[in-house]
Amino acid sequence: MKKACINSGLFFLVLANITANSVQGKGPGRFASTTGDTSIVAPPGYYPIIVGSFTVTALNDGTLLLPLDHLMKGAAAGELGQALTKYHRSLPTETSVNCFLINMGGKLILVDAGGGDVYRSGGLGNVLQSLARAGYKPEQIDAVLITHFHADHTGGLSKDGEALFPNADVYINQADYDMLFGAAARQVSEVDNVAKLLAPYKDAGRIRTFSKRQELFSGITAIPAPGHTPGHSCYLVGAGKKKMLIWGDIVHASEIQFADPSPTLMFDGNPGQARDSRKALFADAAKNGYRVAGAHISFPGVGYVDVDGSRYRWTPIAYSTNNKTFIFK
Ligand SMILES: [Zn+2]
Repeated sequence: MKKACINSGLFFLVLANITANSVQGKGPGRFASTTGDTSIVAPPGYYPIIVGSFTVTALNDGTLLLPLDHLMKGAAAGELGQALTKYHRSLPTETSVNCFLINMGGKLILVDAGGGDVYRSGGLGNVLQSLARAGYKPEQIDAVLITHFHADHTGGLSKDGEALFPNADVYINQADYDMLFGAAARQVSEVDNVAKLLAPYKDAGRIRTFSKRQELFSGITAIPAPGHTPGHSCYLVGAGKKKMLIWGDIVHASEIQFADPSPTLMFDGNPGQARDSRKALFADAAKNGYRVAGAHISFPGVGYVDVDGSRYRWTPIAYSTNNKTFIFK
């Protein structure tokens, strides 16, 4: 528990640095226009994907610049630099924050809520705009499934003590709920800040917890994959080869961790357990050929994991403008 708390503190330390950089005008999402205006922010994105009888829409919350050379553990500095160069990436590394909306027909389920105001000056907090562009209103959301308690996934749940998804139940693994509201959590002020984000839902009796693999809705199953946090969980949508696993923070640096799943991140509460969860999910996704959706893989963050010799390989899904397949039936 203590280790997890320390890592949580580091998480917020890095957050503070990212925020400070952004305030100084070095934040992500900005580019020069033809008029030389550097204040233009790239528009939020959404991308619908058919998953069996559901439509899953990737919603971009923004991008963060992550100093992976400081955050990655177990990857030698030279190898990390080489891997980033190979994929035309640099340091700090542009990193997407993706949420996913599941349209079940009768229900709308959001997986993660983005960084909200907590990360707004760091380049996040765009999920509501992305949701609106996709044609949905926050009050239509029936449930928000949280992959884990960190603020880049929970910051968008509420604003100034008010629930931003007023009709939604929030689902979270019991172990992460205990990190926020259990006796030990009270010792860590950073965790208290995240607890405040969930408080409007808790006060309304709208938080639901689970502690093992469990079907939450017909066709949506929670699967614990602990390590990054004690209750880190994935959500499996659909069945058979058409299914998609929304896996949260199993991968933070796709350029490095698919080739070698061993390196961990400073934010991993239990690095060994996080590594084991990653290896197990890579093996299963490669064996069974279903799509996976990552919170921190470049938007839309959806693709396939394959075995490539002694390594794994990530292949993003093909971009498609075939609108007929986007209509939910
Ligand atoms: Zn994250």
